[in-house]
Amino acid sequence: MIPFSPPRMDQKIIDEVIDTLKSGWITTGPKTKRFEEELTKYAGHKATLCTSSGSAGLELMLRWFGVGEGDEVILPAYTYTATGNVVAHCGAKPVFVDVGTDFNISVEAIEKAITKRTKVIMPVDLAGFPCDYDEINALVRRKEIMDKFNPRTKEQKTLGRILVLSDAAHSLGAIYKGKKTGNLTDITVYSFHAVKNLTTAEGGAVCLNLPKPFDNADIYKYLRIKSLHGQTKDAFTKTKAGAWRYDVIEPGYKFNMTDIAAAMGLVELERYDSDMLVRRKQIFDKYAREFSKYDWAEIPVYETADKKSSYHVFLIRIKNVDEQQRDEVIQRITEKEVAVNVHFIPLPMMTYYKSLGNDISDYPVSYDNFSRVISLPVYYNLTDKQVMTVVGAVVGSMIHQDIKSQENFG
Ligand SMILES: *Cc1c(COP(=O)(O)O)cnc(C)c1O
Repeated sequence: MIPFSPPRMDQKIIDEVIDTLKSGWITTGPKTKRFEEELTKYAGHKATLCTSSGSAGLELMLRWFGVGEGDEVILPAYTYTATGNVVAHCGAKPVFVDVGTDFNISVEAIEKAITKRTKVIMPVDLAGFPCDYDEINALVRRKEIMDKFNPRTKEQKTLGRILVLSDAAHSLGAIYKGKKTGNLTDITVYSFHAVKNLTTAEGGAVCLNLPKPFDNADIYKYLRIKSLHGQTKDAFTKTKAGAWRYDVIEPGYKFNMTDIAAAMGLVELERYDSDMLVRRKQIFDKYAREFSKYDWAEIPVYETADKKSSYHVFLIRIKNVDEQQRDEVIQRITEKEVAVNVHFIPLPMMTYYKSLGNDISDYPVSYDNFSRVISLPVYYNLTDKQVMTVVGAVVGSMIHQDIKSQENFG
């Protein structure tokens, strides 16, 4: 069986984790701090706060901006449930908009969805391909859009416009007009979950890149407190002689990263561009080359003049099939001992989001993408031979199928 996305856990990572376990400091401490500094250097934003997950990072920042009841947050219908759930946690309304054929949020659809209650836009760099950030950043700064903005909290008043909070769970290392994700919007959040390009088992990071007069270093200090129960001293500081007394300034969260996780992250980040991204790009290129031989295959766009993917998952679409036929293709691929997946079932199709009144027929491109997509495995240790096995399994599952558009499957 070719698995879908096993994490790379080699000796270097094992050694660094063991070093941490033996160091006497296993939760948030020196390695988390160093991982934060390395991430800041890597992507070029202003400051980084590591968190226990990407979801925790997204929720922390919605809470920081004061998003709550009566507010609206715009996000793509086509994303993982974390993006929507964090909005629901805050008591705000997730407002879904459709995506384009590149799987990313449509800027036109965002514009139509903005109301005087909109506080945040959460673009998602789906599969690692960056969104149209120039257009999104320009939109929130347009005079008539800014005039609509109705600030309530201190942070909202200071920003004076809709916040762009980018969900970059897939797109560490992706590039937009020469800049890395992290450095493209007000705030960007990465995920280091086990299936992501860079993994710390569970983990995430908040990249702060807020414009003046915000002081990103000050906000970082405050977020450390907010992500650790609102306690004015973390465990690391408290262990210093005599420094036992602390205060609680607000009922904060327990969203901190452990040094065990940061140890994995440090090893992976150091070789991320020179090693991880290089291999992933080779796999993408090979899939693209092989599948372009078939009329039925729609190859995803992953590089343009302005954008470079982080090659997270390869989303192939089959032309002229419906959802059920796609499911049958997946079944046959699985029978050939190849694990594939679907990223993602649009959120308006989920029971909870349907109960809020959402209907997938309002998101035709999201549904069309979903109904024809198959996510193919992409990971560091996937060999060229295995890539060809995946290609063979997909191709073999196409030509044997009995479907109405069979003439297209030459
Ligand atoms: C994985 C993922 C997240 C959440 O990351 P966690 O670290 O698992 O909390 C958020 N958004 C998207 C699009 C994801 O794929």
